[in-house]
Amino acid sequence: MKRATVQTLYDWLNEIAPFDTAESYDNVGLLIGSMYAPVERILVALDATPEVVQEAISLQAQLIITHHPLMFRSTKRIIEEDYEGGVLSEMIRQRISLIAAHTNLDRSKDYSGSAVLAEKLHLQNVRQEDFIILGDLPEGKVPAVQLKKQISDVEGEMVYLYGHPETPISTLGICGGAYDEGYEQARALGAQGYLTGEVRHHHALAAAGSGFVIFGGGHYGTEALLVDKLAGALQNAMYALKYNVVVYPSACKPFGTQTEQ
Ligand SMILES: [Zn+2]
Repeated sequence: MKRATVQTLYDWLNEIAPFDTAESYDNVGLLIGSMYAPVERILVALDATPEVVQEAISLQAQLIITHHPLMFRSTKRIIEEDYEGGVLSEMIRQRISLIAAHTNLDRSKDYSGSAVLAEKLHLQNVRQEDFIILGDLPEGKVPAVQLKKQISDVEGEMVYLYGHPETPISTLGICGGAYDEGYEQARALGAQGYLTGEVRHHHALAAAGSGFVIFGGGHYGTEALLVDKLAGALQNAMYALKYNVVVYPSACKPFGTQTEQ
């Protein structure tokens, strides 16, 4: 078995979701640590929260791969008592490296939160336009309220429906995370409904008022499933390449379980 370094994992991620395809405002790639650090255990998570860092420490992981960058805006001071400063300090003390794959992963047709949701919802004829994944419902037309239940079952989270519950939906647009303005593009591409994480009131009103439907699946709910998908694919790749690496998907749920009553 070969020994992996942080560089090995960076290179694999760069293959499936090239870092140079990230948005200009983003902060992706190696954020903490060293490309030369040896890696035998990896934790994959949506966010580097204090709980995720503790999880990495107990698993003796040398690398955390997250979707969201810990330092999204420029960091000018690192104070232990601050939220971000505390996490950063602990990771540096424990010699844990951090790689973030954010908007570059959002563009992946296989590994983005949107792609994984489309797969779990069994959407057909799946296509991608920028950050939006579109797919047709296998049942043909489905009333919005029924699709809302299906989405909620897949996510294991509460889902909001903005629009008329009986609106028939045959094509769904999806962009996980925070991209509610994308509903107009999804509609222009032929969708009758659009699933995203965070929905602002004025977009919900404008969409519903024009006969369209937006599903608010929560930022966490629309992206959390990518963790298992990415961790599984990474583990398979490391086995195939004969690297001595174990990959763990994080078991941390930052807000507990939010299910329908
Ligand atoms: Zn996100």
